[in-house]
Amino acid sequence: MNQYPKVKCLNCRKEIGECNFKTFTVNLKGYDKNGKRKLFCSQECYDQYKKQFEVEVYNGCSIYAVEHLGEIRYMPWWFSSYYFTNIGDCRKRIDRKEVGIYPSYLFGSLVR
Ligand SMILES: [Zn+2]
Repeated sequence: MNQYPKVKCLNCRKEIGECNFKTFTVNLKGYDKNGKRKLFCSQECYDQYKKQFEVEVYNGCSIYAVEHLGEIRYMPWWFSSYYFTNIGDCRKRIDRKEVGIYPSYLFGSLVR
């Protein structure tokens, strides 16, 4: 009996094993292009995968862009809990990390 779906690394497709709560807690996490949470088998795979979504390095911070439902969403860091719909706002956020600019939208609402 196999209660849990087998999970594969999003980058190299190697099987990570059965997916359960512990897997999700300890493994490296990221989004696929549909905004779904996915897992990676190693730091190398994680870094390689992230690189595809890096659109620019601004002030030493990588900006990542993920397309969802035809809309490009810019994140000031990978696996950010929120995103911006234009890269200018994303840069502003990086410029003023400590000021606390409210994000346009919560990214979490689409990965539920
Ligand atoms: Zn892998």
